[in-house]
This record gives sequence, C-alpha cells and structure tokens, in this order.
Amino acid sequence: MLYEMSILCAFPVYDLTLLIALAWLAKVCTATNDHRIQPGNPLMKKYRCMVCSHVYDPAEGDPDSGIAPGTAFENLPETWSCPDCGATKADFEPMD
Ligand SMILES: [Zn+2]
Repeated sequence: MLYEMSILCAFPVYDLTLLIALAWLAKVCTATNDHRIQPGNPLMKKYRCMVCSHVYDPAEGDPDSGIAPGTAFENLPETWSCPDCGATKADFEPMD
C-alpha cells in the first residue's frame, strides 16, 4: 500500500519536472535563435594567436588585411597571417 502511494505521489512531481525542463529547453532554444550572430555561434568564434596573443574577432574582421567584418576565422584565406606578428592561421587557437 505504501509502495502504491509513493508511485501515485511521484507522478505529479515527475510531470512538473518534465514541464519545467521543457520550458527551460524552449527558453534556451529561443535565446539561441535570438542571438545568431553572437560569440556563442561556433561559426563566429574568436581565435587567439598563440605567438603574440592577438585576438581575431570575426565580428570585426581584419580591415587592414582586407578581411570584412563578419568573416569567420574558418573562412579566412590560407594566406592570411596575424596582423601583429605574422603567424599563420595554424598558430591560432579557438577561444572559449
Ligand atoms: Zn600574432
């Protein structure tokens, strides 16, 4: 009897948890869609030069090298090099 009671009581709690989880997921998805061009987007990740710590910010690009703002690091030409020290793309690491 006690076992049946605990099952009956557990279900509403489970449903509520599920609802909260779904609501949270919906909120996260909406927030992600609203911030498509933000740094959280993997295509617009910042990269740091391991040689001189120069940071390549896709939102700013590299106007001095003819790189337009909004250019993802992955889309930089292979001939692109660090504007500060001349290191190659291979010397850059993604930032968190
Ligand atoms: Zn550098």
